[in-house]
Amino acid sequence: MKKKINRMLMLIAVLAIGMTVSLITMLFYNLFRRQVIEDLRDSALVLSQWDEPEELEQICSELGDNGVRVTLVAEDGRVLFDNEADAGEMENHGSRPEIVEALADGKGQSMRRSQTLAKSTFYYAVRMDGGRVLRIAKDAGSIYGILWNAVPGMLVLLVVLFVLCMVLAHLFTKKLVAPLEKLAENLDGNEYEDLSGYEELTPFFNMIKEQHRDIMKNARMRQEFTANVSHELKTPLTAITGYAELIETGMASGEDMVRFAHGIHKNANRLLTLINDIIKLSELDSTEQEVVFERVDLYQLARSTVEMLTLSAEKHQVSISLTGTPECYISANRQMMEELIYNLCDNAIRYNNAGGSVEVQVYPRHREVLLVVKDTGIGIPKEHQERIFERFYRVDKSRSKSTGGTGLGLAIVKHIVAKHKAVMELESESGKGTTIKVIFPDSIDG
Ligand code: ADP
Repeated sequence: MKKKINRMLMLIAVLAIGMTVSLITMLFYNLFRRQVIEDLRDSALVLSQWDEPEELEQICSELGDNGVRVTLVAEDGRVLFDNEADAGEMENHGSRPEIVEALADGKGQSMRRSQTLAKSTFYYAVRMDGGRVLRIAKDAGSIYGILWNAVPGMLVLLVVLFVLCMVLAHLFTKKLVAPLEKLAENLDGNEYEDLSGYEELTPFFNMIKEQHRDIMKNARMRQEFTANVSHELKTPLTAITGYAELIETGMASGEDMVRFAHGIHKNANRLLTLINDIIKLSELDSTEQEVVFERVDLYQLARSTVEMLTLSAEKHQVSISLTGTPECYISANRQMMEELIYNLCDNAIRYNNAGGSVEVQVYPRHREVLLVVKDTGIGIPKEHQERIFERFYRVDKSRSKSTGGTGLGLAIVKHIVAKHKAVMELESESGKGTTIKVIFPDSIDG
């Protein structure tokens, strides 16, 4: 990037210098040219008081060689006098543009290559009172000469300007890129924030910084998740291997055998549940898989989930009930909704006390639809409430495991809620119970 900016700046500098030089040259050339013509006109006006060849010859020889050519032309174009050529041998000048012009208008000028002297020449001609034309000419080479004399100075100036541009472009590029380099060097720190003069870059910096933080956080979370998953998988597998080994060595009697088989069965189930939850989470994580939304009656779904969990509730000596408004339609993914209601109700039963209750409510409120799962269970202490939606976070690990928890249920719930642009509210008091509200933004007419 540095090289590119540098190259661009140099190109601009070269173009600017080139254009300036061309313009100045053109300007000076025009200026000199005008000056030469003015000088010629003045000389012509002064010399036009002598209209005889002899007089002019005398004046010219008195003036000496000053680079000015004087020609006297008769009305019919014959050359009567020329201080630089033999008038007698010169061809008729009646058709020379400046003479034609002078004969017609009193004065004429032109710039062309002289046929007599074979040089680029400026001409100025005036018609005298008697009808003859006096023409003064000057070699254009004098202008080129002046310009040519300026070349060495110009070249030195060009080189100085070019070097100056190079140094400035280098410094400017360095200054421009400095904050970016600093940003790259310490993405984690805040040092670059105090670089003043780059206000326009501040949003860009903040965005990069935020993205970098997110990336780092994600990487850390992924790493933690992998470590947790490995650990969680290892425990039931170790148990299974242990039981299998005991059976293999023939150490188990008939009664033990049943116990070991039960152990294997339980742990294998645990593995399956865990793997299922991990698959669900990874599906929810993937952005490629498109979620299919359909019109779903949330009340109806809650009813079937409550029915499904009645047996489990009975086992835990917990009563479960559903209240609210039948036919509450929302746009949602049916499978995800089932998963969400199931996980919340399952937790409400598992973290309950014998004789406790779970109340599920589904009802509309303005344009919203609410799903409330309320239990009279053990509650969640304040300090854990923020974290229970994290993967594998449990308040009481042994209780979670003994009731078949994976520590992933609420993480799945959180993901599903986000996919449906819904909001979740948690209210819980240790020893009293927990209420989780999920608020869906838009109800759909039945
Ligand atoms: P688990 O599989 O362990 O239940 P979850 O992600 O569903 O994992 O829940 C995380 C933790 O939050 C649980 O281990 C438990 O400590 C706590 N928790 C969840 N729901 C409730 C509830 N209704 N009452 C009390 N504690 C709960």
